[in-house]
Amino acid sequence: MSELKIPVLDLKSEINEHLNEYMKAIEEVLRSAQFIMGPNVKAFEEEVARYLGVKHAIGVNSGTDALVIALRAAGIGENDEVITTPFTFFATAESITALGATPVFVDIDERTFNINPDLIKQAITKRTKAILPVHLYGQAADMDPIMELADAYGLKVIEDTAQAFGGEYKSRKLGTIGHIGCFSFFPSKTLGGFGDGGLIATNDDEAAETAKMLRVHGSKKKYYNETVGYNSRLDEIQAAILRVKLPYIDEANEARRKAAHRYNDLLKDIPGIITPYEDARSKHVYHQYTIRVLDGKRDELQKHLADRGIGTMVYYPVPVHRLPLYKESAPVLPVAERLSGEVLSLPIWPNIGEEVQGEVVREIRKTLDLYRL
Ligand SMILES: *Cc1c(COP(=O)(O)O)cnc(C)c1O
Repeated sequence: MSELKIPVLDLKSEINEHLNEYMKAIEEVLRSAQFIMGPNVKAFEEEVARYLGVKHAIGVNSGTDALVIALRAAGIGENDEVITTPFTFFATAESITALGATPVFVDIDERTFNINPDLIKQAITKRTKAILPVHLYGQAADMDPIMELADAYGLKVIEDTAQAFGGEYKSRKLGTIGHIGCFSFFPSKTLGGFGDGGLIATNDDEAAETAKMLRVHGSKKKYYNETVGYNSRLDEIQAAILRVKLPYIDEANEARRKAAHRYNDLLKDIPGIITPYEDARSKHVYHQYTIRVLDGKRDELQKHLADRGIGTMVYYPVPVHRLPLYKESAPVLPVAERLSGEVLSLPIWPNIGEEVQGEVVREIRKTLDLYRL
């Protein structure tokens, strides 16, 4: 396929905004020759803990590792069940399965794309140990009823906040409401590094200590390994880059929100398209701006937009419970299954700008008219 006129994400323009600061930070790490668990990781962990308002922030190698380590730190293992959403990236369920536990998929709320709290109670069994909600696309899952159920049944809540760094639920930072929050610094995420990276956030001293031990081969003291852990550290160069980026995160998320609201305006009179719902009590940070395209027209619209040079993405074409690994035992989850055929994420990044967005919407309009989709 030829180069797109408008990509779904323009990372270059984001990087260029603060390029000199990144170069300086990277150069300092090279000159220090300290690459693993050095001063930048320590400083970043302190800075990000302060930003989130949590006691402990623990850098790890990826968002996936953050989930695996957090689940283990919460005591999840063989034969346990963890209730989660099927409408997410595979890593959410993968982390549960990797520990020998079973993901129990509960259908989603069609407005928010997140786990429907009304359906959780009926999925709780004697084996249930935790609930793992995802704040998909940057939008908060409905945490109050989730926390109430968790309290009532003695369950842990692990928040998959990979797509929602900086987002809020009733003025509380996402990833700090449950027992442990997990974040990803994959380059495309709202707080993205220039490689893989992740973070665990918690107010629980014991979980924090376990997570710190697990990320360095299960040792509290070097060479006195206590259990089988992981080699899963946030590296010094990523930490240095993230320290440059963190002070700009609120500004960047505000810019995403502004761009999203502009799309809402531009798209509002196009029939057959549903713009994202925004709960007034939460701060959606629009990692993705995801519309619903009704009447089975999504794939055709996407194809025609690609032909006209507009990049879009489908997150995710197959709900996780329908993947080969789970489909044999999966329940029918009608909302997730329907929405996976309707969702389309449009180009968004903080400084996307009015002109580019106008162009995207003009092409959507033209395509729908021209092909009478
Ligand atoms: C990106 C992502 C992850 C995994 O993060 P990595 O850093 O890529 O390992 C997990 N869950 C969700 C919802 C994600 O979007």
